[in-house]
Amino acid sequence: MGEKMKLNLNLKQDELKCEQCGSPINEGNAYTEEKNGKIHYFCCSHCAEKYFSKHGENI
Ligand SMILES: [Zn+2]
Repeated sequence: MGEKMKLNLNLKQDELKCEQCGSPINEGNAYTEEKNGKIHYFCCSHCAEKYFSKHGENI
């Protein structure tokens, strides 16, 4: 029984959305990034990059 995915998502909280563009996130497209102990959810790495360049490390 290996891990299904590397991502450790808790999708029981329904309605996860990309914090950058607002797209719905599912197990197939989820991209997560941890900053300061908080996990941020995105639909792709590009959105994560945009988000963090906009908000800096101060989130
Ligand atoms: Zn996005």
